[in-house]
Amino acid sequence: MKIPISKMAAAVQPSATLAAGAKARQLKSEGIHVFDFSLGEPDFNTPEHICQAAYQAMQAGHTHYTPAAGIAELRSAIAKLYNRAHGLEVTPEQVIVSNGAKHSLHNALAATVGPGDEVIIPTPYWVSYSDLVQMTGASYRLVPTTQDGGFKMSPEQLKAAIGPNSRLVMLNSPSNPTGAVYTRRELEALADVILGSNLAVLSDEIYEHLVYGDSKATCFATLRPELPERTITISGVSKSYAMTGWRMGWAIGPLHVVKAMGNVQSQETSNPSSISQYAALAAIEGDQSCVETMRREFEARRDLVIRRLNAIPGIHCLNPGGAFYAFFNVTAHFGRTIAGKQITDSASFCQVALESAHVNFVQGSAFGAEGYVRLSFAASREQLQQGLDRLENMLK
Ligand code: PMP
Ligand code: GLU
Repeated sequence: MKIPISKMAAAVQPSATLAAGAKARQLKSEGIHVFDFSLGEPDFNTPEHICQAAYQAMQAGHTHYTPAAGIAELRSAIAKLYNRAHGLEVTPEQVIVSNGAKHSLHNALAATVGPGDEVIIPTPYWVSYSDLVQMTGASYRLVPTTQDGGFKMSPEQLKAAIGPNSRLVMLNSPSNPTGAVYTRRELEALADVILGSNLAVLSDEIYEHLVYGDSKATCFATLRPELPERTITISGVSKSYAMTGWRMGWAIGPLHVVKAMGNVQSQETSNPSSISQYAALAAIEGDQSCVETMRREFEARRDLVIRRLNAIPGIHCLNPGGAFYAFFNVTAHFGRTIAGKQITDSASFCQVALESAHVNFVQGSAFGAEGYVRLSFAASREQLQQGLDRLENMLK
């Protein structure tokens, strides 16, 4: 007998970003040099003082189960961080540490929505949002934004999207995949619509430290006194401290929500890695100059990538204010045949780029935005220059 797959699992798509990364890995294992701009993962090593804290944790015997929601020191350090950095009053009990921000998002959705509920997601959105919502049994309503509108949802759009079953809106600024950073005023306008409704907010702020030029990241929950009781803030150390493999993320929210998330987590995964928790503690409490060093390098890469992309005929890219993605329009190339393959959509564009130029991107359709392609500039400037040379030649 063939074991039947559950409806939930059958509906889940593999993560398109992780799949693109795996494709590049496969080609590399065959000896092909791939210019891999698919995964959103800092190419830097985790700073040494953070690694040292992990060794010390192992030597000190911190290799056992911890409380399911995380060690008290880390929850308390995160609460203090939000107090210090954003003026947000948070108790350690309002913080839960999980196996990456993706896991925090899952826990938050699992604790707050289910069948019959609807979640509002502005597009383009990070690939996993839709599947994470679907896994709870809830449905989602997409709110399309445009390149001309800076890929930002307007308060009018949000208002129009709210229906009788709407429970939650997912915000992500700085955004993956567009790099859009909402201004404080733009977020305040969204906050006022939210406060006039019954919506709760899931604010994914994982790229908060990676902002460039005049852009500033805003902690959404701080914008109005009534927001902390309806906002779940998500963040983590993956992007800011180059710690993707350590799997450390967190959520901050109202006590009853965090408790429910803790119950889910205690049954599902128990605690996140004890060693990673001590490393995250060192990241948050240690010298922050590593964050600024990496941010500056990302900014230089952004400048290079945007200048070069916009110099290629038929490509149009907005200047991302944050994160490490360029999200560019390629519709002018649809209908062309390159290396014997017709480009009809973002997926075929990416396929041709990978097969003929060995440059790896992620198709915009995975982010709910057909016509676009995402380039992650979490790669060295040298690799970016060479990869963009190849893209330019391919499109000539
Ligand atoms: N949110 C966004 C917008 C992301 O781009 C990512 C990247 N993976 C995550 C959450 C999850 O990060 P992690 O699970 O590595 O903490
Ligand atoms: N968030 C990154 C990306 O969008 C990492 C991959 C993933 O977790 O999906 O590429």
